[in-house]
Amino acid sequence: MNAGDVESRRSPIAGLGLFALRPFAADEKIAPYLGERTTTPPTPTENKTYSLEVKPGLWIDGQAATNPARAANHACYPNAELVYFESEDQAWLVAKTAIPSGTEITFDYGFTLAESLFNPCNCGHPDCVGRIIATPLRPALRRHLRFSRPRD
Ligand SMILES: [Zn+2]
Repeated sequence: MNAGDVESRRSPIAGLGLFALRPFAADEKIAPYLGERTTTPPTPTENKTYSLEVKPGLWIDGQAATNPARAANHACYPNAELVYFESEDQAWLVAKTAIPSGTEITFDYGFTLAESLFNPCNCGHPDCVGRIIATPLRPALRRHLRFSRPRD
């Protein structure tokens, strides 16, 4: 990754977003996800949006400004994914599909059902579930929302 590959700027989804400054091919590494490591999951109420589980039992808190992937937003149908490469002991944002230059880079934060309740999603997709939650958990969230009142 070169500094000129991506930039952080205002996003229609939330705050700052990460944008491609050149085209990326599918499966290409975009930016490393850097930060403090812990084996303790954040409690949902801590609202640690940047603390992500990069592999089972390992969380990286990417909130420091030195994390090149810090600004990347969650989306329900993202164009990138967070992949932990065992060989280099490093997590990267990797393109899931070809990403044209200028496109916002998004990925699945992989939040639990509990975390999702404190983190609304505004990704803008017609099928947006309205919460930041791991894709496999989305059906469970839909069931939950059907039986409870909205919190915000
Ligand atoms: Zn969404």
